[in-house]
Amino acid sequence: MAYKFVDNYRERGARKKLVELLSSRGIEDENVLKAIGKVPRHFFFDETFWNQSYKDIAFPIGDGQTISQPYTVAYQSELLHIKKGDKVLEIGTGSGYQTCVLMELGANVFTIERQENIFNRTIQVLPGMGYRPTFYCGDGSKGISEHAPYDKIIVTAGAPLVPEILLKQLKIGGILVIPVGDEKTQKMVTVIRVSETDYDKIVLDTFRFVPLVGDQAW
Ligand code: SAM
Repeated sequence: MAYKFVDNYRERGARKKLVELLSSRGIEDENVLKAIGKVPRHFFFDETFWNQSYKDIAFPIGDGQTISQPYTVAYQSELLHIKKGDKVLEIGTGSGYQTCVLMELGANVFTIERQENIFNRTIQVLPGMGYRPTFYCGDGSKGISEHAPYDKIIVTAGAPLVPEILLKQLKIGGILVIPVGDEKTQKMVTVIRVSETDYDKIVLDTFRFVPLVGDQAW
């Protein structure tokens, strides 16, 4: 599918305002703000809802799922401290918006989505926009062992606990960012692998994610 949408002055202006808003809400990493400023978020919306696309809100994308709130995308991206060429595993591709932000930050992204409908849509949309991550369809709660270890792992759905198997797929010095809690609210958790056997865990702010469903999840 060739991508039919245009990125005109109205959308570019709205995106600039969104970046300013995220900065005022505490996002400090200039690279993350630049990446948010580059990804045309309205491309993920039906044209009828373009006026919603640069608001700092999550929005339904069908099949009971949402495109994440820009603040949440920026917050998780900031915690990952992406460096150019980092090998990143993203669990929960969804619309692919977060994937594009990670790629604008220079990451080499492996992304996995469990819902076939969403997967089939996103593998059309992202290449149409010029983003070509490595896509997988399946249960990401077990990670993707054949490409491990990763510099960074990001989970974009709420987990009941930190899956042990994901920790094992991190490089030493690698970072995992994952929302952990019950089905309603979760705390953002960062885990840094400091050695073969040791991990540092930091518990941060409260968010609301859709549940991570799978073998090592709900
Ligand atoms: N960051 C995405 C975006 O901006 O569009 C939104 C991701 S959405 C909040 C979470 C996604 O995780 C959903 O599409 C859901 O189907 C997916 N998901 C849930 N459990 C999963 C699992 N075990 N493996 C892979 N994807 C999963």
